[in-house]
Amino acid sequence: IHAMIVLGTRPEAIKLAPVARAMAEDPRFEPVVVSTGQHREMLEQMLHLLEVKITTDLAVMRERQDLAGLTGRLVDGLGRTISEARPDLVVVQGDTTTAMCGALAASYQKVPVAHVEAGLRTGDLGNPFPEEINRQLIGRISRWHFAPTERSAGHLRHEGVPDERIEVTGNTVIDNLFWMLARGQGVPAFRTGGTDPGDDPRTPEGRAGRSSLRSGGTDPGDDPRTPEGRAGRSSLRSGRPSRILVTLHRRESQGEEMTAMARSLRRLADRGDCELLLPLHKSPAVRESLLPILDGHSRVTIVEPLGYADFAATLAECDLVLTDSGGVQEEAPSLGKPVLVLRATTERPEAVEAGAAKLIGTDAAVLYDEATRLLDDHDLYAGMANVVNPFGDGRAAERIIASLTRDHGALPAGVLN
Ligand code: UDP
Repeated sequence: IHAMIVLGTRPEAIKLAPVARAMAEDPRFEPVVVSTGQHREMLEQMLHLLEVKITTDLAVMRERQDLAGLTGRLVDGLGRTISEARPDLVVVQGDTTTAMCGALAASYQKVPVAHVEAGLRTGDLGNPFPEEINRQLIGRISRWHFAPTERSAGHLRHEGVPDERIEVTGNTVIDNLFWMLARGQGVPAFRTGGTDPGDDPRTPEGRAGRSSLRSGGTDPGDDPRTPEGRAGRSSLRSGRPSRILVTLHRRESQGEEMTAMARSLRRLADRGDCELLLPLHKSPAVRESLLPILDGHSRVTIVEPLGYADFAATLAECDLVLTDSGGVQEEAPSLGKPVLVLRATTERPEAVEAGAAKLIGTDAAVLYDEATRLLDDHDLYAGMANVVNPFGDGRAAERIIASLTRDHGALPAGVLN
């Protein structure tokens, strides 16, 4: 099966890497990976780390590019690439402009599309914009819909997608997170190291301890995939500051709202019993909102975006996550880390419903109050930390590959849908 994987941003690289690696190892597949370079800076390093080789690089990004220009260039570039390579199918992920254009360009040439992370919906085409438009369009075009959860499968059924084209696979982000942690390469970015060397990936003992994940983890108390491991890892530890990981980047909250949130984060740091870490997104607007208020505080560490190995290690070592990122909302519950979601809506309500995350909006005062409650109320904290991750078991890519191989022989050549 000649499969063309199309990606262009950091989250797409993370969520398609398990599929690309599984196809590369499977003799039935002949995969090619096309990068559009929509997020060039964070992408190349990420793909290298994730052991994904780019076959074709379209490098479409231009200075101060608007959405229409980007869309035009992407449909054109991807259209040419597809017509030259004539793949049997095109794989896209999520809701980016790259994914939407990949699906559209494939459909123009009657090449069937497989959509990874299908069926997420807010139901409001303007929110978030343009992601909701992108994901709905891709849903209309795709032949295979790989839904991360039952809820997303339900959205697709509701829109009339036939049942046999939908498969609930779990989210590939969990596959990748476990794969990365099992390699034991990452270094947590918090200032306060683990007190137990066996718990610190910066020491040889710690690394050896972590790599037992690869063999399935002999000690269930150390394995984030087991309830015991989640409970063991997630309790707020005494004797050191609580570690709070913060990631903020969404367009909707940039500006005054984000500046107010930065003030609340500063108040949290002022409590004196917690340490904040902010890997800063490359966006200048994010930097302008956060840096003037938080930079220089003795209990706030601001760093450039972390490589994925270090980010995964940092997530595994934190106590609490404050984020507006989609991927981080999915990753944190699988490691037993409570999440406060700094958005008004989420297209991933599963973690909120399961009790692992709380949607708190972007009001700065609410942010401070909710974080304070979690830091002070151990039972509340433990209740959130011990929820089983609703986003899957880390075997999504396996299910995707099985489904594509099963269906492929049944598809008449050149027939879309
Ligand atoms: N991530 C990373 N380094 C960082 C921050 C995030 O590698 O400094 C990873 C994280 O593990 C998650 C993904 O990037 O899987 C999320 O990307 P982003 O927040 O850009 O996009 P979203 O998930 O909101 O689409």
